[in-house]
Formats: sequence, C-alpha cells, structure tokens
Amino acid sequence: MFSKIIQQDKITKVESLIDKADKAVIVTHVSPDGDAIGSSLGLYHYLTDSGIETTVIVPNEFPYFLKWVKGAKDILIYEKYPEFAHKLIDETDLIFCLDFNVLSRIKWVGEAVKNSNAKKVLVDHHPFPDDFCDVTISHPEISSTSELVFRLICRMGDYESISRQGAEAIYMGMMTDTGAFTYNSNSADIYFIITQLLSKGIDKDKIYSNVYHNYTADRYRMMGYMLSEKMKIYDEYGCAVVWLSEDEQKSFHSQKGDTEGFANLPLNIKGITFAAFFREEENMVKISFRSQGSFPTNEFASRCYNGGGHLNASGGEYYGKLEDALSIFENALPDFAQLLIDNKNNLNKK
Ligand code: 5GP
Ligand code: MN
Repeated sequence: MFSKIIQQDKITKVESLIDKADKAVIVTHVSPDGDAIGSSLGLYHYLTDSGIETTVIVPNEFPYFLKWVKGAKDILIYEKYPEFAHKLIDETDLIFCLDFNVLSRIKWVGEAVKNSNAKKVLVDHHPFPDDFCDVTISHPEISSTSELVFRLICRMGDYESISRQGAEAIYMGMMTDTGAFTYNSNSADIYFIITQLLSKGIDKDKIYSNVYHNYTADRYRMMGYMLSEKMKIYDEYGCAVVWLSEDEQKSFHSQKGDTEGFANLPLNIKGITFAAFFREEENMVKISFRSQGSFPTNEFASRCYNGGGHLNASGGEYYGKLEDALSIFENALPDFAQLLIDNKNNLNKK
C-alpha cells in the first residue's frame, strides 16, 4: 500500500459528488502536456466506465505524440468548438479541474468554469491553489496530477475498476512529469503505483516509445540549430538560456509540442543548474524555466514575468519583444546570484 496523502473527508466528498452526477466535464491547462492529458484521460476512463457521461475539454491543441492515448480523439478543443464546450460546461453536474491551480491557466475556458453552477473538484500539484472549487485536492509534494488521480480512485475503493486504457494514461502522465522518472521521482510510492499499473497490463516500454520515439526530423534539426546558434551560457551562475524566434520555428515547420523538453536540454551540461527557454509566439514570448537542486525557478518566473509553477519547473509569458524578454532575464541574474552560486556549490559537493 502507498501512504494515505489525500484527506479522508475530501475523498468522501468527491465520492458523493460522483455518486450524484450523471454528467461530468474535465478541464486542464492551456497547451496541455503529458500530465494534463494523462490525468484527464485516466479520470475520463474511470468516470465513463462508471456510467457518467464525461467530456475532457482542453483550451487549445495538444502535442501529436500524445494522441495515441485511448480517449485522446474524443478530447474537445475549446478553441475549435467554443459554443459546444460552453454548452457542456453549463449543463454538466460536475467539473474536475486537473493539473492547474488558478483559473487563468485555462485561459478562455476560465470564465465558463467560473460561471457554471456545477460542483467543482480541483486535483493538482502546483503550489498555492486559488479557492474556486468545492473540493480542493492540492499536493505540491506529489510529482504528477496523474499520480493523484490514481490515488483518488484507489482511495474511493475502485482500484479494480481502473481499465488498462486508464492505467496507460495515468502511467504516461506520471512518466512525462518526471522526465521518465529521472527527477521528482525518489518516492517509493511511485514504484509501488507503477507495479499496480503494470498489473493492469500496461506496456511501459511501449508507452515510453509512443511518447519519446515519435518526434519529427524537423524537431531534431531545430534542436540542433538552437543548441549550436541560440544558446548563451553564464558560467558564473551555472545558468544557460536557449531561445527561438517565431521565424526560426517556422523555418523548421515547428508543430505544437515540437519544442517540448527544450528547456531541460541545458541542464545536461556539466555545471548548469538553471536553464531557461524562450519561445517567441505571434503576440508574446513563452518562457520555460528548469533547475536542479534548490534554485526556485518559480520565484524567478513570478518576479520577472508574473509567472509561476513548481520549484524546479516553471514558466511565464512576456508580452513584448523576444530581445527584451531576454534582457530582463540577463538583468535579473545578479539579483539571484547568491541563490544560484550556493545551489551550484551544493550540487557539486555531492
Ligand atoms: P512548461 O515550461 O512545461 O510550459 O511549464 C512548466 C510548469 O510551469 C507548468 O507545470 C506550470 O506549472 C508552470 N507554468 C508554465 N507557464 C506558466 C505561466 O505562464 N504561468 C504560471 N503561473 N505557471 C506557468
Ligand atoms: Mn503536472
């Protein structure tokens, strides 16, 4: 058995909300990643199999290498069908908010969720959740929302009713939010849960391949170009930054998800413990931060770009020019010098 993390009164409340519901909607954050899709589809299969008419709604398109997961084809993309999505959100009994902590993270879906009379349940692992749900299950110490979905279902006494498809989605989310169990993954419970998922018949090696061996050649050409031409290293801070303009991405026919993981790349370099990736979009610059050790990237993101996230993985948005976003970054480094240098020294000592 794994440790009981979610409070019993919350489990009981969710159980009773599910018992009363005929229809449910699951919403997750903008530019959904593996954990967003994995947790949503894991819960989707469970609810559907329990006889609840369930729809997963995402704000915008998600990466092609997540489309193989069973149920992915039925995900409703709000941007494409806003009226239908509104109708579902208005008419549903229950809304699950997965893998985000504040309504602004679901962008244009936020207003509809806020105004809906449905009961709302948050299941998430980002720090500092807003209080907009009837039940808030928030556990920043857990490495993925998918793991929390698994824990929730099991604690409701329904491990038996998790299908292989549901188990695949949950495993995929746990895997992607831990870099295939290479970070935030020292908890023994994770491996207990994996054995439970394996006994549902999942093929974990195939799931790895489906996600990580499915990229386009263009993605790798773009990655090579970026690492060669668009990387700046700040040795004294143990920091490196990479960036791509919109035109550069276009020249490599970049698709949604093609830059996934780029923010992590500089961390592979000896001595680098803080990495940032700046990706220019049509009307803003999307920024991703990653660190090893104790450097709080979320503090950096919130201070410089009004963003947020986890200690080791966070992000933000900058509404302005790419060059200006990069200058803000460079100018902020001296303010974080002590934290960066201490973190670098601590890690090297190990
Ligand atoms: P990614 O770099 O993969 O887009 O995001 C990593 C993490 O940073 C996400 O799990 C999310 O918690 C956080 N994050 C990314 N972008 C934003 C943002 O614009 N605002 C906030 N508050 N958090 C973000
Ligand atoms: Mn997550």
